[in-house]
Amino acid sequence: MKVNGLFKPKTLDEAYHKLTEHSKNVVMAGGAWLRLSNRTVEEAIDLSVLPLSYVKDRGDVVEIGSMTTLHEIETDDTIKSLYGGILSQAVSQIMGIGLRNVVTIGGNVVARHGFSDVITPLLTMRAKLHFYKRGTISLEAFLDIRGKTTDVLEKIIIPKRKAAGYFKKVTKTALDFAIINVSVTCDEEGFSVAVGSRPSVGQLAYEAMGLLNQAKDVDEKHIDLAAFKAADLLKFSDNHRGSQAYREELTAVYVKRGLLAVKTCFNQRGGHDD
Ligand SMILES: Cc1cc2nc3c(=O)[nH]c(=O)nc-3n(C[C@H](O)[C@H](O)[C@H](O)COP(=O)(O)OP(=O)(O)OC[C@H]3O[C@@H](n4cnc5c(N)ncnc54)[C@H](O)[C@@H]3O)c2cc1C
Repeated sequence: MKVNGLFKPKTLDEAYHKLTEHSKNVVMAGGAWLRLSNRTVEEAIDLSVLPLSYVKDRGDVVEIGSMTTLHEIETDDTIKSLYGGILSQAVSQIMGIGLRNVVTIGGNVVARHGFSDVITPLLTMRAKLHFYKRGTISLEAFLDIRGKTTDVLEKIIIPKRKAAGYFKKVTKTALDFAIINVSVTCDEEGFSVAVGSRPSVGQLAYEAMGLLNQAKDVDEKHIDLAAFKAADLLKFSDNHRGSQAYREELTAVYVKRGLLAVKTCFNQRGGHDD
């Protein structure tokens, strides 16, 4: 990456206006991913000077500043207490501590990497994103937006709920990108299932979730069918890490394991009232 200038905004408003001034201006968070590209950047807008690195417990929600590093997330007790600690578990499997001390949750989410191990658990934790200009939108809605993000992500908002969670990253070697990653949660709204690195970005398995969330009682038959639906109806494809067929097989296995792991949460809620 070639950078012609560095801008250190004093406020989010300054950062946003600088971003909209020139099509080749970019927001820079940890910079670890940006620096791998061979693009020419007019001005890099360095967010490290703004107070965006925090985890705040607001009572009903937890807010994570976009500049919070993955290592801060991995070690934070509040994050560890959310949805069985799946976000902490997921980030702890990304490369080494050296990299995790640099890369940020905001950079991971905005980059929408297909292999993201952050987006998949966040989808099942019902995360919302708060952008400076656009305001608050669900992570799902953000993933549906096509094209470039000309906005500054301020924070990620996660509801605080009594919930259970499961996360699995399948890799060939410990430091590699995922062949697939799977996240399953259960909270007062029901089950959530997401699969990422398909190799495209994490997505909720709506049909599988619908089947489970409409059931009065969830037994092994429902779980088998839901795992099959997730593998059958989500879109997978081939790349050098794994074939479509292998990804489908892995998905069926790990969605089932995830559902079995969080199922007691559903039963403790007493199932649905109909
Ligand atoms: C060697 C290596 C291995 C990796 N392995 C994995 C892995 O296995 N799993 C995984 O999930 N991730 C992995 N990552 C990705 C990593 O977790 C981060 O997602 C990535 O580095 C981007 O974070 P960053 O802070 O470096 O962002 P940057 O590189 O600074 O920015 C990335 C993009 O996001 C934009 N951006 C950043 N912050 C904001 C903001 N607040 N508002 C608006 N736009 C913003 C930037 O303009 C840029 O387009 C890896 C990265 C590297 C370098």
